[in-house]
Amino acid sequence: MTATDAFIGLGSNMADPASQLAGAVARLAALPQTELLAQSAFYSSKPVGPQNQPDFVNGALWLRTELTPLELLDQLQSIEKAHGRERVQHWGPRTLDLDLLLYGNETIASARLTVPHAELANRDFVLQPLLDLDPERVLPDGRSLAGLRQQCPDNNLQKLNPVAREPFPPG
Ligand code: ATP
Ligand code: MG
Ligand code: MG
Repeated sequence: MTATDAFIGLGSNMADPASQLAGAVARLAALPQTELLAQSAFYSSKPVGPQNQPDFVNGALWLRTELTPLELLDQLQSIEKAHGRERVQHWGPRTLDLDLLLYGNETIASARLTVPHAELANRDFVLQPLLDLDPERVLPDGRSLAGLRQQCPDNNLQKLNPVAREPFPPG
């Protein structure tokens, strides 16, 4: 069985978001037939959609996995559930969101799965963590992450100090 490089986007804005992400990293590192290759910095960002909710903490992981895309999605959703994720409001507050951003060089358009993630190009809180992990990466359609990042709307992304989990002071 060959292994494929997959990138996972993590997000949370409830119940101590940075701890939710740290817990998710541990669970993803323990997935069967899967290796955790690298973890991005965490960032705070303004919410997408409804603004009457706390800021998000976002990050991304680089996995190498023998799981199929749908097997991986099943695993992501079961980890979301374990973190008490409830789907109440579209783009509303959540304890944990795990999205499959990229799966090798594959393009997938099925009922449960769109890969690359449909909003990837529009979200600095997705593109920047991916660039931390692999600055040279190019999408299946040939667009580079670096080029997309330059054109992407600004979501007031702030890199968090990994220890204090607060934004770095200016300067
Ligand atoms: P967004 O997709 O805009 O980031 P969201 O992450 O809040 O929104 P969810 O409620 O987590 O959306 O997921 C809704 C559905 O999206 C899931 O049931 C899943 O089947 C589908 N989906 C499609 N493509 C993906 C993907 N690449 N990663 C995760 N879920 C996906
Ligand atoms: Mg999402
Ligand atoms: Mg999601």
